[in-house]
Formats: sequence, C-alpha cells, structure tokens
Amino acid sequence: MVISSTTDDYDQNLHCTFASRYVRTSLPRFKMPDKPIPKDAAYQIINDELMLDGNPRLNLASFVTTWMEPECDKLIMSSLNKNYVDMDEYPVTTELQNRCVNMIARLFHAPIGEDDTAVGVGTVGSSEAIMLAGLAFKRKWQEKRKSQGKTYHNPNIVTGSNVQVCWEKFARYFEVDLKVVNLTEDCYVMDPVKAVEMVDENTICVAAILGSTMTGEFEDVKLLNELLTKKNKETGWNTPIHVDAASGGFVAPFLYPDLEWDFRLPLVRSINVSGHKYGLVYAGVGWVVWRTKEDLPDDLVFHINYLGSDQPTFTLNFSKGSSQIIAQYYQFIRLGFEGYKDVMKNCNENVMVLKEGLEKTGRFNIISKDIGVPLLAFSLKDSSSYTVFHISESLRRFGWVIPAYTMPPDVQHVSVLRVVIREDFSHSLADRLIADIVRVVNEMEAARSTDNTRNANISTIKTRNTHEGEASEHSKREMQLGISKFWRRFVHGKKSSSVC
Ligand SMILES: *Cc1c(COP(=O)(O)O)cnc(C)c1O
Repeated sequence: MVISSTTDDYDQNLHCTFASRYVRTSLPRFKMPDKPIPKDAAYQIINDELMLDGNPRLNLASFVTTWMEPECDKLIMSSLNKNYVDMDEYPVTTELQNRCVNMIARLFHAPIGEDDTAVGVGTVGSSEAIMLAGLAFKRKWQEKRKSQGKTYHNPNIVTGSNVQVCWEKFARYFEVDLKVVNLTEDCYVMDPVKAVEMVDENTICVAAILGSTMTGEFEDVKLLNELLTKKNKETGWNTPIHVDAASGGFVAPFLYPDLEWDFRLPLVRSINVSGHKYGLVYAGVGWVVWRTKEDLPDDLVFHINYLGSDQPTFTLNFSKGSSQIIAQYYQFIRLGFEGYKDVMKNCNENVMVLKEGLEKTGRFNIISKDIGVPLLAFSLKDSSSYTVFHISESLRRFGWVIPAYTMPPDVQHVSVLRVVIREDFSHSLADRLIADIVRVVNEMEAARSTDNTRNANISTIKTRNTHEGEASEHSKREMQLGISKFWRRFVHGKKSSSVC
C-alpha cells in the first residue's frame, strides 16, 4: 500500500471529518475560497452552523407551514429540479397550478360557471400576489382616467395602519400613495367608516385584511362593501375592494362559511392568499385570484403559447421551483374541504387551551378575538417592572420563539406577545407553553419582590448614610436606563424583523 505523501490526501482519506483541517480552521466569509473542500466536510460544517438556528416547529412567530406529510415531502424532493416556468416541458405542473387556481376561486365564491376557468396565478407568496393585484387596480384606474380625459398620475390606496409591510412596499415601488386609517384604543383593525371617508377619485382600491397580522382579527369587509357601494353611487367613482386574505383565506371558508368577505360581495375584485400559511404548504407559494377576466387588464398579461394552447402568465419573476405548486395540489386533494376544516378546528381548539391557561394566571389581557386567524395576542396587565419583551426573551431559553412587538402608531403604547397556532402545534405543546410562560412570569415576579425588599432596605440605609443611598439610586437609574435600552432595541428591531 502506498501512503500518499501530500497532507491534502492524508486529510481527505484517513482523517475523520472532525479531525480534518477543514473543520479546524474557520471558513472564509467574505471571499469565495480558492480551493474546493470535500463534500462531507462541506455538509458537516454547514449543517453544524445551522444547528444554531431555532427549531422551526417551535417558531410560533410565523404563520408559515413547518410540517407536511412525508408523502408530500417525497413529491417535493422529486420535483426540486423542475423549473416552474418551463411550461412546455412540464405541462402537468402547469395544469396542477391551473387546477389550484380554479379550486381557490370557487372556494372564494367567484361568480363563474361550473366549467369556466378562473382567473388567477400562483406566486412566490402573498407579497408578489399583492404587487400583481395592486398593479391591476392601478392600470384599470389609469385607463379609466385617461378615457375620461383626467389626470392619472397620483393614484392612492386606502388601508388600515395595521397592513403588512408588503403594502408599503407596493406603494413605494409602484408609486402609489398609501392612505392609512389609524387604529384606535378599542379598534385594532381598519374602521370601514373612516376608510370610506378617505376614498377619493384617485383611490385605486380599498384593501381590507382578512386576518390582521398583529391580532388575527378579520376586518369587516361586508360593511366596507356596503358603505363603499353607497359612496360609489353618489360619486360615480366605482372604487373597488381588494381582500388581503394572506392568513385568513384558508381559515374563514372552513370555520366561518357564512361570513361574507369574498367574491360574494360585488365590490371585491381580487383576493390574495398565502398557500404557505393556512394553505398548509412550506414557504414559497401564494395565490391571487380575480373576480372576472375584466378585472385583470389584458396588457399586463403575457401570453405563452404552450403545446398549442394559450397559457397566460402574470408574474414578477421568471424562474422558480415547481415543488410548492405540486404540494399545494397535494394538500387540496389529500385533505379536501373536510380535512382543511378539521385542521382549522384543531388549531382553534389549541388557541382556546392557551387562552384559558393564560387567563387563569390573571396577568394578561387577551387582545385577539375568538373569531379570526388561529392565534393568541396578549398583553401584560401590569408592565411596571417587566415587559412582554422580557417574557419573549426569557422563553427563548426553552426553545420557544414568541415575538413581542408594539402595535402600529396611535396604539403603540400597547405591546403584545403573539402566538400563532399552526397545524403541527399539539394540545400537549400548548400545555407545555403555558407552564413555561407561568414559570417565566413567576421568576420575574420573584425578582421584582427581591428588588422591592432591597429598595426598602436601601431607603433605610439612605436615612443613615446619604452617600450610600445616592449610590444605590444611581444604580437604580442605571438599571432603568438598561431596561429602556432593551426596549428600544426591540421596538427598533421590530421594524426590520417582520412579524409575518
Ligand atoms: C403574511 C402576510 C402577508 C405577506 O405574505 P407572504 O406570503 O409572506 O408574502 C401579507 N399580508 C398579510 C395580512 C399577511 O399576514
């Protein structure tokens, strides 16, 4: 046997991964390394670094799916190398997308015949879907203004200030003014009366949210439709409604089938929904559907001729994976209406378990409503000595990722913790979470009473020795300063780390 003389071969062939030089030196982070490394070492190094990410299943900050059935995982893995945009080459995948659009449009009561093809498209998520819906409204409005010989350079959208950040993005990227209805102390969603008051001749649409990101609450689309219909009659503006049903679009039809929020309301012209939220698919799929063909201006649509038939496309990006579309179709046929209903019911039950558990502690105000997206938003009744931000931070040590954040302007003195309940969150996990929250809160209470005792002692000392007393006052101020720094970091951090 010839033993190789180079260190490289020696490392690669004989050493175990953890003794090899690849893991003994740190990898460059800014410049691509000059030389390759063995695949097992690359795998190990990256895998190990990723261990420091949180556990997605315990990430209760997000609506986005973290568990699917192994059979679906298999379908996803086997389609990883399929580019969705190659419709000619993968006609079946395109067909599955069209079936999903048809199913969603009908779930949302689009006024189409039994055999009619619905108008809609799969996207990377609701954000892309909202850009497309917004563009369609903007173009429709511009066409109308042009035909009337009026100016068409200052369009606006009316929303609540609780909108998800993607609406602000749409407004900025596509130069539309965002007119926001501010929230109030007793209403954490858009007030339809105020929204309709804000509508003017340049309003391209009013966007209502089915499932406010902050509290999960459904906005009153029916009342909005009613008030706007009246205003449209008076003004002749014909302002339409878009429903951002990113989180609630796959909840309401199953849990609250009688709630009218969708195409049953005549002014609702388009709806977006995130397939990767309660559509129960991993991150990377959203949908937008239009009421009729007329609601999607034809000059925004590109027509691709595939296999001799016309496939209209309307997206912002070109290439993307096929897996999520295939996975969405899997969920639709695997679960059916009844299956989705069961999943949503179970989520709701777990919200109730958590709600009751937290109410029992007597320390929290529940902010979220019983009807809405399955989540629990709650604030502290007394945050004089510790805050929801402290609780959020402390829960991290058990592995829980539960965001704390301040509400939008006007109610920003209210800060809440938000727990999103997804399909894979069980009753037992809910029990564990309650126990851990109680434990964290008890610890903080205990720390508070120790502090109080110490402060009481300090004031006794102070009467005896003024200097010592002043020093303690100083350290108390330092501590308060520390807390407010801690606050600012979180409040500030809230802007960049999205709560979606
Ligand atoms: C999550 C969310 C979005 C953004 O959706 P993505 O699918 O993550 O792009 C938009 N609006 C609301 C109300 C949301 O909850």
